[in-house]
Amino acid sequence: MTETDIATIERQIVFNADAIEKLRSGLRGAALLHSEDGYDAARKIYNAMIDHRPAAIVRCAGVADVICAVNFARDNGLLVSVRGGGHNVSGNAVSDGGLMIDLSPMKGIRVDLQNRTVRAEPGVTWGEFDRETQAFGLATTGGLVSTTGIAGLTLGGGLGWLMGNYGLACDNLISADVVTADGRFLNASKSQNEDLFWGLRGGGGNFGVVTSFEFQLHPVGPMLGGMLVHRLDNAAATIKFYDTFTQTSPDELATFVAFATSPEGERVMVIFVSYNGTVEAGERILKPLREFGPPIADMIGPMPYVKVQRMMDDAFPAGRQNYWKSNFLKGLDAEAIRVIVDHVAKAPSPYSAVAIEQFSGAVNRVAIDDTAFNHRNARYNLLIVGIWSDPTAKAANMRWVRDLWSAMQPYSSGGVYVNYLGQEADEGVERVKSAYGAEKYARLVALKQKYDPTNLFRLNQNIRPH
Ligand SMILES: Cc1cc2nc3c(=O)[nH]c(=O)nc-3n(C[C@H](O)[C@H](O)[C@H](O)COP(=O)(O)OP(=O)(O)OC[C@H]3O[C@@H](n4cnc5c(N)ncnc54)[C@H](O)[C@@H]3O)c2cc1C
Repeated sequence: MTETDIATIERQIVFNADAIEKLRSGLRGAALLHSEDGYDAARKIYNAMIDHRPAAIVRCAGVADVICAVNFARDNGLLVSVRGGGHNVSGNAVSDGGLMIDLSPMKGIRVDLQNRTVRAEPGVTWGEFDRETQAFGLATTGGLVSTTGIAGLTLGGGLGWLMGNYGLACDNLISADVVTADGRFLNASKSQNEDLFWGLRGGGGNFGVVTSFEFQLHPVGPMLGGMLVHRLDNAAATIKFYDTFTQTSPDELATFVAFATSPEGERVMVIFVSYNGTVEAGERILKPLREFGPPIADMIGPMPYVKVQRMMDDAFPAGRQNYWKSNFLKGLDAEAIRVIVDHVAKAPSPYSAVAIEQFSGAVNRVAIDDTAFNHRNARYNLLIVGIWSDPTAKAANMRWVRDLWSAMQPYSSGGVYVNYLGQEADEGVERVKSAYGAEKYARLVALKQKYDPTNLFRLNQNIRPH
């Protein structure tokens, strides 16, 4: 951001001083301005490449603060951004010069043991969520990295270790409380505001601010988890075996492949696994996969679910530069793997990686029209994760991601997972349509017209009203 931009924002703040005092008088939480304590910490999100300075940040203490902030932003014509866990790499949680509705202080979680459900507020991360639910031996599908927010992840779909058994995070959503653009408070479920409920399960943050999520929980105990590490020169043969192996593996087995750099600096292929069943059954099912190669390291063993949920955390610390691109794949053919291996060997940063995410089981069994989330029948998603620490290395790292993504286009199905989309200016308006397909996109546009006709909530994977 230039000095002129900063001066513009400062002028806006002075201009709005009276209004901001009025806003503050209506809040239980804080409203932070540019030069105030806590402002810089509150505007930071996971991706350090995003360095935006909102005009004000409302640190919401509860639903009343969210209503107050939405009404204030709308009445003052401010650009609204909504922050849940702050993990979205596009940086939509924070804008330059707008009002940031920061939900991260809202951390309430209440497990209902009798009904095996949980209510969680939108500032909760998956690590916090799992800690509370696992205290009772329960869990639901959540993200692979424990610091990701439950809010954005669920609203876009939400893939994770348990999806083979229980579907996506959004498939486990029972109801949600939502503050809409006109400041109304609605409950959305299969029996109330059913159209909104459909849109919230995959349609992102387009329709309002979700202030509470109610999820179905399932008994989830200690399990087999860990990783198999292979040399890159064995990648093609191993992937061929892996592809055949996973075609008949049970729902309990989740696997994700990553092409990455080991802590010793070697480029490797890693198969991450978890088996959501007994350790004995997991040992039996995984035996052929563990024997194939053989891997240069086998780090699979019994562990609690919360440990499975954290095994990728070290690879994704907050505060590094991130630029990601993705697409669902038509399949896993040998030529595609060769393209990946060639590019991984040339990655400018040791933190960058290429992931292949396997979708299966309960995800495919949910009827395609039940939720806004699309692409249930895709078997593999390709995610190219550019991560580096030196801000001056941006051009080389972004080029690497883009080059690999372009080289993989012949193997892409054309579909994309909305939660991995980058900024609209970079991806283009059409890519969000690829996340939904023409029919669902049209349904989402109609929903947007109904619940947010002025597009107040445009800082997400923007679905425009008519
Ligand atoms: C390290 C890392 C690991 C990841 N792992 C996975 C994974 O395993 N599975 C997976 O499916 N995805 C994964 N993702 C992608 C993730 O789902 C998205 O980045 C998601 O948007 C993050 O949600 P958040 O609340 O943390 O992010 P935020 O940046 O806070 O929000 C993301 C978007 O949702 C909107 N939003 C947030 N909260 C609300 C709310 N309460 N109401 C309305 N709109 C809201 C925001 O405005 C923003 O547009 C990962 C991302 C990262 C960076």
